[in-house]
Amino acid sequence: MGIYEELGIRPVINATATLTKLGGSVMPPEVVAAMQDAARCFVDLEDLQVKVGAKLAELTHNESAYVSSGAAAGITLAVAACLTGADRALMDRLPNTAGMKDEIIVFKSHRNGYDHAARMVGVKMIEIGTATHTDPTELETAINHKTAAFLWFQGGMSGRADFPLQTVIDICASRGVPVLVDAAAQLPPVENLWRFTQMGATCAIFSGGKDLRGPQSSGLVVGKKWLIDAMRPNGNPNASIGRPMKVGKEEMAGLLAAVKRYLTLDHEARCRRDEAVVATWLTAFNALPNVHAVRGYPNEAGQPLPRCELLLAPDARLTRDELAQRLREGDPCIVAMGSGNANGLFLNPMTLTDDQTAIVQARIVELLG
Ligand SMILES: *Cc1c(COP(=O)(O)O)cnc(C)c1O
Repeated sequence: MGIYEELGIRPVINATATLTKLGGSVMPPEVVAAMQDAARCFVDLEDLQVKVGAKLAELTHNESAYVSSGAAAGITLAVAACLTGADRALMDRLPNTAGMKDEIIVFKSHRNGYDHAARMVGVKMIEIGTATHTDPTELETAINHKTAAFLWFQGGMSGRADFPLQTVIDICASRGVPVLVDAAAQLPPVENLWRFTQMGATCAIFSGGKDLRGPQSSGLVVGKKWLIDAMRPNGNPNASIGRPMKVGKEEMAGLLAAVKRYLTLDHEARCRRDEAVVATWLTAFNALPNVHAVRGYPNEAGQPLPRCELLLAPDARLTRDELAQRLREGDPCIVAMGSGNANGLFLNPMTLTDDQTAIVQARIVELLG
């Protein structure tokens, strides 16, 4: 009997996305093997962090790299590093920021729950722009002697009321302000592992437990050597602000294996596969009464992968919420996410095996047919 059976936990067929609340992603065998390998013995954890970081930097064409306990922890440590630099006395003092540059500039339109990871360092968030527009001069004006960094969130929140990341980078570079890019869910495309930093961002921060399919409690920070060098002493195992965000030797080894795997994946084949799944779904679902199925692209995180949106007419057999509930309560348990349309449900192939895409299809046909 497995742990889930023992505890009475029902496995979930995840048709949403790489959501942390559903377990993030499923680790491929080579990642599990790397974690098991790392679990064999004691090591010098800081030495391992440095050596794994050097490998990750080389693999991703970056100056330096760091394994955090998640993308959110990566934000915390990168912000801390911008405040303290290499100064251990300042690290001891956090989250008291007295005497430090402690202003983080952010687009008002980028504000989201993950910025708590920056706020916990004791910084002031300085918003620029409105919910609908921001002018580059507002960034010029916001930068002053207290500015520690600019925090850019890449994803659903970007591209609406901001201006291009390259403009942010150029303005910040001319004033000596680091730019931190939260790119937690910005894989694929795989090139993003070096794209943001090659644009001039000081670092880019990725979740290890999303599409990389590394350990769920891992994150990858790539970027400038000075920043990563200042992140390490701010993090575990040092008694610093990052001490509660422990990264184990197993997570470091697992993330390295995950990045190696990701770099050799046939991403085009993977995209073709997801397109084929969505096409099959569209045919099956559009044959159902009072159901309209459409291809959605890109997906909710802006990843260049397709998904399917089911739109249920008022006289369909179930409402969107009833359908979602029946899927969740059925056997097997299938979880799908509502779309922006009140009667729309998204089905995402990226977190499904081939067998599961067929199960999802059959179950929906059964419920709505
Ligand atoms: C998922 C996500 C995070 C958090 O990533 P973790 O690895 O779970 O800590 C942060 N920012 C954004 C934009 C995300 O999508």
